[in-house]
Amino acid sequence: FEIEYERRAALSRKLFTRASQVIPGGAGSSARTVGFGWHPYPPFIAEGRGSRLRDVDGNEYIDYLLGLGPMILGHRHPVVTRAVADAIDEYGTCFGLPYELEIEAAEKVVDAVPGIDQVRFTNSGSEAVGTAVRLARATTGRRLVIRFEGHYHGWQDVVYWSNHVDPELAGPADQPRPVPSGPGVPLELSDTLIVLSWNDPESFVRVMRERGDEVAAVITEAAVFNTGCILPEPGYLQLLRDVTREYGALLIFDEVITGFRFARGGAQEYFGVTPDLTTLAKGLGGGFPVAAIGGTLDAMRLIAEGRYSHSGTYNANVIQCAAVSATMDVLAEPGLYERQRALGDRLADGLRALTAERGIDAYVEGLGTVFQLWFANRPIKNWRDASAYADEAMFTRWFQEMLLRGVLFHPLQFENLFVSLVHTDSDIDETLTAAADALTAAVRR
Ligand code: PMP
Repeated sequence: FEIEYERRAALSRKLFTRASQVIPGGAGSSARTVGFGWHPYPPFIAEGRGSRLRDVDGNEYIDYLLGLGPMILGHRHPVVTRAVADAIDEYGTCFGLPYELEIEAAEKVVDAVPGIDQVRFTNSGSEAVGTAVRLARATTGRRLVIRFEGHYHGWQDVVYWSNHVDPELAGPADQPRPVPSGPGVPLELSDTLIVLSWNDPESFVRVMRERGDEVAAVITEAAVFNTGCILPEPGYLQLLRDVTREYGALLIFDEVITGFRFARGGAQEYFGVTPDLTTLAKGLGGGFPVAAIGGTLDAMRLIAEGRYSHSGTYNANVIQCAAVSATMDVLAEPGLYERQRALGDRLADGLRALTAERGIDAYVEGLGTVFQLWFANRPIKNWRDASAYADEAMFTRWFQEMLLRGVLFHPLQFENLFVSLVHTDSDIDETLTAAADALTAAVRR
């Protein structure tokens, strides 16, 4: 792979060498570096258009990385790009004061997402999560937060725990030990956290019985997309809802990935379970950098009454609000989600058939517009299963063989394949043709 990749990515090699002088790791986020699977170096991108990317060496890719999620409408969606450019022309970019377009964007999000009566826009998913957790603590006057192994909620100290850590350190599955996800996190914070295995109703109910009245919030992805893709077992989200309510703890759905992806109202609409607080980012701005913290009137009350200060110089700037408003309009097209889910399902079904024909232990989990191909001979229900049973080496070979055939997604099995709302039937046909060859080659290597 390395020899073939170096041959076709010579200009990327040059840019990587240059970038590494002035940018640590040669890229702006660690998820784009060699350490996150972009071996021997990532392709440097020349442009994105619709469902396609072209790199500086002229290689074209059908793009299922989609910026790690935000490009839900594909690259350079004409409606959103035009709306942002027009808004900058009309208003400027940033005032440090409110303005009407901000209300319009907020009204559309409130209209779309069942658990959101009020919303504040901010800059990244990590910021939104940090606000949500502190707001839950402020609202309840409690300290403990329950989070789940293998979920990622951004890089802030309060939540940067127990995501793809060393299984040896993580303790028993029914009573995990909080382990920081990297160095620099104050270990004292472990006293403020309870970490649990996901999709495990017994351990959740047991812990809530013991300490439920100390718990400020339970934070969860509504379907896990930071350990590949794992859907909730039937009834699990409703159980989280019922038991948090019983003990007066707030339920936070981190919908940074799931928001606007399964349905316009997010996973909460799709699964029919409404949280107290919701964090959004990625799909929200159709590719422009914007995030949001939203919730019920009760959950947002401290902010509304000025008793909790949520601030940010760039919050709700013109670029963000124009992008949100236009994206919400595009996503309102009748039948859009049904059509796209059907397209994504065709890809998923195709991959199921191709792996089965070749006798490969694999299965696809997900919901059309985002899924993962697990190379495993048993169902993966949580991070413990993933680290024990999923064949990482096979995933790497599959990724590499697809990259050489012009299909791009993240090299780690713990990420996912995103299908945008502008991928086409011919994209799927081409991808399945490439996959047929790539799977055969990946098994042989
Ligand atoms: N929450 C979830 C569920 C995420 O997937 C991510 C990013 N992958 C974040 C929070 C953090 O968002 P951001 O990268 O915008 O800070």
